[in-house]
Amino acid sequence: MPCKKKITILGATGSIGQSTMNVIISSPDMFEVHGVTANTNIKLLADSAIKLNASIAVIADESLESELKQLLSSHDIKVASGMAAIEDIAAQDVDLVMAAIIGFAGLRPIIRALESGTNVAIANKEPLVAAGGYIMELARKNNAKILPVDSEHNAIFQVLEDQNKTAIDKIILTASGGPFLNWSADDIAGATPSQAIAHPNWIMGKKISVDSASMMNKALEIIEAHHLFDMPADKIDVLIHPQSVIHSMVSYVDGSILSQMGASDMRTPIAYALSYPHRMDSGGDKLDTKSLCELSFSQPDFDKFPALSYAYKCLELGKRACIAFNAANEVAVDLFLREKIGFCDIMRIVAYAVDELLPTIPEFELKTIEEIEKLDNIVRCAVIDNEKVR
Ligand code: NDP
Repeated sequence: MPCKKKITILGATGSIGQSTMNVIISSPDMFEVHGVTANTNIKLLADSAIKLNASIAVIADESLESELKQLLSSHDIKVASGMAAIEDIAAQDVDLVMAAIIGFAGLRPIIRALESGTNVAIANKEPLVAAGGYIMELARKNNAKILPVDSEHNAIFQVLEDQNKTAIDKIILTASGGPFLNWSADDIAGATPSQAIAHPNWIMGKKISVDSASMMNKALEIIEAHHLFDMPADKIDVLIHPQSVIHSMVSYVDGSILSQMGASDMRTPIAYALSYPHRMDSGGDKLDTKSLCELSFSQPDFDKFPALSYAYKCLELGKRACIAFNAANEVAVDLFLREKIGFCDIMRIVAYAVDELLPTIPEFELKTIEEIEKLDNIVRCAVIDNEKVR
């Protein structure tokens, strides 16, 4: 029997983390799990560690360590806590780290994994948006592979012919359009958190669901694609495709367009990343091609969903703008989910950060992680202060 692949799952209790767990459990001969991590959800973390027979479970919130120890007291599973412990687990010797923490908080563990030369399956897009250049360079230096998990980027990864990279005409990211695709601008302005997280096709964590509703998710994906595939902004297009069957396309200079299709089930891209360069049964839903009667496409509405224009603008402005764009959005989505602001305030805050705040922040180099974190933090604090005085 071939050796099992050793995996660590960062963000094991989230939507991607749990789908990863399901893929692994459905093929027990293929994988063994080293570490699993979470932020505060100790019950699900303990339960997942037991089901996966993991060696170590790490909780970011240090005050929950003793409770987690209790939950795992009758199992041979080590327990640790704190962000530094999560970073240490990411750096330990495994074949693949699944990066499925939400937000910029996942940056350091990804860096530690890559510094150790470990391949990283990356779902966690915010670190790529804020520090994509740094991450890709680090992977190159340490000979570590980055395997895209986001369904669009995984699709592109599957149909992108390495030998024909210079013959790519365009990358076309498909977008479902989210729950507000056909809503009027007035209705969108009054949208509640529960309406925003009700995605028509995908079941996901709350933050990415709100991002999908504002099309900020697609905006982040434009920047993500720029880094993952080394593509200039003018070669990345967005196409609305409400059925989420075609997960993205690559158009080549000879006129061929290659796409990847599948059900709206993250287990497919996760399985591809876990078993790369081979394929495995994902245990997930399969697309019934007999049921495919109509696939529709349309151009995105840049006025109704201004986040898309901002993605291109930030790519043109450079690293500083991408960091501010992501940081402001994370703060704004959190405020919206806590019902402190309305849905359209998310974009107002993001626009403020990029257009008004950023030019007032003195420029400094963004060569190190500390410098990237410093700018991220300045933007977060300034955005919160600005909201307080409004
Ligand atoms: P969830 O919110 O469902 O899960 C997030 C995970 O990260 C949980 O395990 C959570 O722990 C942990 N976590 C949250 N904050 C911290 C922190 N500060 N420190 C350490 N761990 C933390 O997110 P998703 O699974 O939906 O998304 C994860 C990433 O994957 C995102 O970047 C998203 O954009 C991307 N993605 C997700 C897709 C999806 O279908 N869900 C599709 C494509 C990309 P706890 O449970 O304890 O809070």
